[in-house]
Amino acid sequence: MNLQDLPQVSAPLPWQGAVWSRLQEQLAAGQLPHALLLAGPAGTGKERLALALARFLLCHQPAAGHNCGECAACRYSQSGSHGDFRWLQPEGASKVIRIDPVREAVSFIFRTAGFGLRKVLVLSPAERMSNGAANALLKGLEEPTAETYLILVAERPQGMPATVRSRCQRVNMPLPASEQCLPWLARITGEPSAASELLELAGGVPLLAEQLYTHDGAAQLRKRRSSLGDLARGKATVPQVAAQFSQIELAPALRDIALFLQLYLRRQEQPGLRSARALFVLLDRLQALQAAIAAGSNPNPQLALESVLISLAEAFDALRSGATMRPSSQEIAP
Ligand SMILES: [Zn+2]
Repeated sequence: MNLQDLPQVSAPLPWQGAVWSRLQEQLAAGQLPHALLLAGPAGTGKERLALALARFLLCHQPAAGHNCGECAACRYSQSGSHGDFRWLQPEGASKVIRIDPVREAVSFIFRTAGFGLRKVLVLSPAERMSNGAANALLKGLEEPTAETYLILVAERPQGMPATVRSRCQRVNMPLPASEQCLPWLARITGEPSAASELLELAGGVPLLAEQLYTHDGAAQLRKRRSSLGDLARGKATVPQVAAQFSQIELAPALRDIALFLQLYLRRQEQPGLRSARALFVLLDRLQALQAAIAAGSNPNPQLALESVLISLAEAFDALRSGATMRPSSQEIAP
């Protein structure tokens, strides 16, 4: 997340209204926990909520349920230079949040707030903390200081040590229903029909739909998805399909394939689902591979992609031939 040149006001997304109201009620009652864990699938806007909450907590005169955008604290948080605000994320090519910045952040927690109001520390994605970093963070979680708030953001909270998880209040942020995000997406695209087509293409993931629109990626995604459909129908070979993915990195390629499988499985009638068990197994393995990569594993992209595509082709071959489905022999592993 880029924390410089922010808009004056950071508001939550439209489908986050219930969570937002609850957090505000807790704060007003003096019961907002000092450590929150925002957990949910990718593309639902967890970081945007974390940012809105952080800026709200730092603001000197919140208005209409948001940070005011005008006080000194808001001006500093807008330019990314607020001294009582830290946002830790993996830096550079590293996919891990390392121990040194976390140590520094924990000592920041124990200092007095510069503006004398509150301090906020956000870690995202929190499951990418190294073991040393998680241990260093525990010190801050065990001895929370008054008016200090830790916000952990995680797609896969199970990838974090239980000792960290158990000290946070978990806020679940599931995928929103399409009617909750379509009006928002339509304001971005300017066309309701384009919005609903994009959201469907994105498998209902609102921030992916937004990204497809702003980065003009919908046409390429359609092409990749149609090549996966060809593979599933036995009309294309693994190298042909792999070539369609050669322009993107492994992580988004795996995301595309997982979305393709999810959409396929969602469309199946109940009786068909029994025979599609191998596809569920494949999806599980795919998600395990995604988690390993998110945690810093670095498999050979071409081999990993082809391994996934071979498993996909085998599973659909077996589905078409009506054979008893068995999990594919092809291991998808880094
Ligand atoms: Zn303000």
